[in-house]
Amino acid sequence: MEAAAVARRYRVPLHTRHAIARAVRLGLRPLKAEPPLRLADWGRQHFKLTADSSHERGAWQPWPFQIGWLDAFSNDDIEQTDVRKAKRTGYTKCLVAFIGYNAAHRRRKQGLWQPTDDDRDSFVKTEVEPMIDAVPAVRAARRSGKGAEDTIKFKAFRGSVAHFLGGKAMRAYRRITLDVAMLDEIDAFDLVVEKTIDPVTGARGRLEGAPYPKLIVGSTPRLKGFSHIERQEAAADARLRYRITCPLCDCEHPLVFGDGKIAHGFKWDKTAYKPHETVRHVCPHCHGGITQADYLRVWQHGAWVCDATGLRYGADRTWRNARGDEVRPPRHVAFVGLWAAYSPQRSWPDIVREYREAVAAQKAGDSGPLQGFTNETLAEVWEEEYEKTDHSLLQRRAKAEGLPMAVVPRGAGVLKTFVDVQADRWEYVTWAYGPQGESWAIEYRVIYGNTGDWAEWEAKVEPLLDLVYPTATGTKLAVSALGIDTGFQTHLAYAFARKHKARNVHATKGESQPGKPIKAKRSLMDIKTSGRVIRKGVALWHVGTDTAKDLIHGRLQLEGSGPGRMHFAAELPDTFFTGLTAEQRVPVRTVRGLEHRWECPSGKRNEPLDCTVGCIFLAELDDLPRWTDRQWARVLGSLEPDLFEAAAPAESAEQPGDQAAREAAPPKAEPVHTSTPKRPLPPRAAAPLGSDEWHSRL
Ligand SMILES: [Zn+2]
Repeated sequence: MEAAAVARRYRVPLHTRHAIARAVRLGLRPLKAEPPLRLADWGRQHFKLTADSSHERGAWQPWPFQIGWLDAFSNDDIEQTDVRKAKRTGYTKCLVAFIGYNAAHRRRKQGLWQPTDDDRDSFVKTEVEPMIDAVPAVRAARRSGKGAEDTIKFKAFRGSVAHFLGGKAMRAYRRITLDVAMLDEIDAFDLVVEKTIDPVTGARGRLEGAPYPKLIVGSTPRLKGFSHIERQEAAADARLRYRITCPLCDCEHPLVFGDGKIAHGFKWDKTAYKPHETVRHVCPHCHGGITQADYLRVWQHGAWVCDATGLRYGADRTWRNARGDEVRPPRHVAFVGLWAAYSPQRSWPDIVREYREAVAAQKAGDSGPLQGFTNETLAEVWEEEYEKTDHSLLQRRAKAEGLPMAVVPRGAGVLKTFVDVQADRWEYVTWAYGPQGESWAIEYRVIYGNTGDWAEWEAKVEPLLDLVYPTATGTKLAVSALGIDTGFQTHLAYAFARKHKARNVHATKGESQPGKPIKAKRSLMDIKTSGRVIRKGVALWHVGTDTAKDLIHGRLQLEGSGPGRMHFAAELPDTFFTGLTAEQRVPVRTVRGLEHRWECPSGKRNEPLDCTVGCIFLAELDDLPRWTDRQWARVLGSLEPDLFEAAAPAESAEQPGDQAAREAAPPKAEPVHTSTPKRPLPPRAAAPLGSDEWHSRL
């Protein structure tokens, strides 16, 4: 019974009745919820295009293909939505509408990641803040007054919050809990954030415990094999393309570019005065051609359809299976192939002109424009011939040479070890160097442990300071410097380098800009461990990793013995060779134009390469590439067995020299780990410039 009816029945005075009714209304207000609207409908009612971020002003009318995206965003049955799209297809507007919808209509905690902090700042300033100001429903939901936080990173609404994050740092994927996680331009994110986690997994982790978890992953695609959006799509339950109904034959098909390889899609008259102006889209069924104007007359009757299963979401805005029965949508949907021809903001002739110009540029040797066209207009990943070394070739070469593991070969006189740090392990490689850049990989090992625990550094990494290897000539040689990568567990790595500075331990940080010197620069860093800060407590070396990788790639192509040749112990594991050759030299579009960078395809491990780069840096630090023949002769001479000792009368029946040889080269050829190492005396001329502390202790 209604409160007012109760009051009438019990003859409550009128003013009291009104007071009761008012109290009841007030009491119920917090419980009152608007029935949830789908995002496309909420957008039509509430969303406005703002002057700052769009050419149009006023009420928003989503384009037909956007309705599928929007409804999927707001559908609680769908946990993940991937959108691969071209530029200027209005995706950003849809995402911003969803942010407004979450804040004003659903009151859900949301987080949005952009590739970098700068991207985040500009997105919030040019898209989010103007939207909040322009859309009354969102403005009304905004929390204001004392204690209401409002920054570029965080905005508070009644009953919800919004976080805006840059995707480069691991800390951006920690702590917050969300109902909705959005990753924008995901292909511009690092493949792995700070060596720990891929950004999609990181963002998904923030949704744990949400009653209706929601993950939105959108991007213009980039490089094949390095594309987050491609990986996400591959894992989706349905991959949907937007199909239109042909106005000529009533059959359904998606718009495709065609490009002479297939009989349908975009076609133009190459002999015409202005070929691009003759463009038509040819139907795969009736082979009739339509213009962009014809397309815009039928586009609102299109449907998103999965080629594999026939699952569809069409103009009736209902999920249906191939038979036409209504079904629940899948948990993970991917909208693919939304290229520029679908957008009313790109003219079809303009697309053809861009393509023709890109092809002409490629013929002249610049594939940059064609890559741009493929990614940003066709919404396809770009594939190209990469520079890369074949690992099986190197392995065959190593077997043929047959060098033993963990033994310093003849011709090498200086050892460098570099340690790469991962969450659950350290990996190290020891390289032996000889004159003129010739080098030998003699050992690769993985040490498992918790790299976040200082005690484990002491127990597991410290023994590496005492690495001594037998030589092929029957003596022993100690490692002369140890490098530690600080990209992960940065402060523990700093602390380790500081503690063992006197033993030639160097902290390094890789920098991938092209053309950067291998020994780029040295800076003093603060160390923060267990709540303590040591100001400028450690010297950090910046290493030009791409320059070193160019050098390695070039050297790996050389066979035989001699200057620059790289050799490998025959028994190094497969993972060493696949890791050493994991990366590919790929073109990257930057503000400076097309540049080439070494990149590791997703899912591949590259630690042996990182360790090799680190050893090349340590060799640079010792100036090895510039040592004179005399310097090398002294070092190598010191490794020859002591002829005087060998010629001395033997105490037993053994042949002279046998004992020394057996000691130096045990059958299993394991490196000798001792707490009080007996180090060979390095020749004076071999002492590295500037970093002689460790050597002088010998
Ligand atoms: Zn047709």
